[in-house]
Amino acid sequence: ATPLALIRGGGIAATRGILIRSGEAFQVLKDITYVVLDKTGTLTEGKPRLVKIIPLNGFDREEALSLSAAAEEHSEHPLAKAIAAGAREEGIVGAEARDFHSVTGGGVSASVDGARVLVGTARHLSAEGVDTETAEAALQEQEARAHTAVVLAVDGRPAAVLTLADTLKADACEAVSAIKRQGATPLLVTGDNRLTAEAIARQAGIDTVHAEILPQDKAGIVRDLQAKGARVAMVGDGINDAPALTQADVGIAIGAGTDIAIESSDVVLIGARVSAVGEAIGIGAISYRKTVQNLW
Ligand code: ADP
Ligand code: MG
Repeated sequence: ATPLALIRGGGIAATRGILIRSGEAFQVLKDITYVVLDKTGTLTEGKPRLVKIIPLNGFDREEALSLSAAAEEHSEHPLAKAIAAGAREEGIVGAEARDFHSVTGGGVSASVDGARVLVGTARHLSAEGVDTETAEAALQEQEARAHTAVVLAVDGRPAAVLTLADTLKADACEAVSAIKRQGATPLLVTGDNRLTAEAIARQAGIDTVHAEILPQDKAGIVRDLQAKGARVAMVGDGINDAPALTQADVGIAIGAGTDIAIESSDVVLIGARVSAVGEAIGIGAISYRKTVQNLW
């Protein structure tokens, strides 16, 4: 394409809130065959709310919330903030937590009032020696509703399942159909559990889901697609998406996301709108047409 076409393409992109940081990105955008989308904060609003607490094994609901909030107090994770906010709303003052520890993509642990408290995925808790059997039924029931559910364990025993609801972005379905219209295949990749991920994918119109993917393995999914000859765009907002954004042929960051995601990307979507992904691919294609008039 002529530099003029790129400049015009860039101009159109800018009016749609799409910042394309290199001429190279334009060229690659038009050949994209797969678009890997992160779930939380990309397809969903990324602002989970605590909607339900299911006490287990004779634990008290308020006590479960208080212990969870205490353990989550030092975590920056959106789920942690939602749990802390949920406790505050009920006027519950979290107890003092000591020996706080967090495992990315897994959960947190702390010592609260002398008890060992863990909050996180069933998989993470199992790895920490908790038998999560008594939490399974409640977990599955919540996850089938597209909710994210985490388990609270106290001294090695499940004490509650906490349900967090995040809403699909208003333009998520439009984003997915726009990607398909551009001839690319959308794919959902998330650290969240399989049932929740599948329910969200169904709502958005995505057929292929990779769930329970640890942050360090998101880039591996992109690499595997590339090894099969795919040209891959990755769309994400979080710290845990940064390696995959870098690995992708085109990294596309949600502008409302973290700085590290933006720094790792070739394209930035200003604001939270995700449907601009399809438009970015379209603008890439248009910029390479000989008849530049078509742009207008
Ligand atoms: P995503 O890929 O959706 O952005 P993450 O990789 O950040 O998700 O987290 C994956 C899962 O790990 C979460 O859905 C949650 O179950 C669990 N998790 C991570 N951090 C925490 C935390 N601070 N408290 C409880 N659970 C957590
Ligand atoms: Mg995210």
